[in-house]
Amino acid sequence: MDSLKRRIVKDGIVVDKNILKVDSFLNHQVDLNLMYEIGTYFKNYFEEYKPTKIFTIESSGIAPASMTALQMKLPMVILKKKTSKILNDNIYQTVIHSFTKSVDYNLTLSKKYISTGDRILIIDDFLAKGEAASGAIRLVESAGAKVSGIGIVIEKSFQPGRKLLESKGYKIYSLARIRSLEHGQIKFC
Ligand code: 5GP
Repeated sequence: MDSLKRRIVKDGIVVDKNILKVDSFLNHQVDLNLMYEIGTYFKNYFEEYKPTKIFTIESSGIAPASMTALQMKLPMVILKKKTSKILNDNIYQTVIHSFTKSVDYNLTLSKKYISTGDRILIIDDFLAKGEAASGAIRLVESAGAKVSGIGIVIEKSFQPGRKLLESKGYKIYSLARIRSLEHGQIKFC
């Protein structure tokens, strides 16, 4: 997606060779026109897989996921990051590790918002090591539902997330794929 790549080059901040900051249009201040366009790309790509719901992970996935859900006319469900484990029969929980924040979360989904026949499109802002997406997949599959695809706004292709998920047979579509952040420079695949 060329407009996204241009925006990353213009406003992205390379924190170090592993982390890109996009606080001015995606993670803190949000450019909703760009998010709408992102939603159009995801819709065009994923509609043939006929998802029934869109899942995202709080909080940075919400903007691109909501714009996709709006255009696909599907419900959006936000997977919550809880810091403590909840003992409750009405929820699914799985632990994920955030490498950017060096913390573990209990990714949490209410059983009310998924059923066995669902085909879930997972949308998130970044793909790095694949921890967040893998956690979302575990929740979907523990409910007996299926993952119909994974839509990523910015993929850091030099990290192992894509390989891990593809090796398990999941379909990934990323709108911008970064090959390297070495020497403060953003290089796309
Ligand atoms: P993963 O779970 O694939 O290792 O990392 C993806 C999650 O970590 C995303 O949900 C995103 O919030 C966060 N993340 C990973 N790498 C980056 C990055 O370079 N910049 C920002 N802003 N977030 C990142």
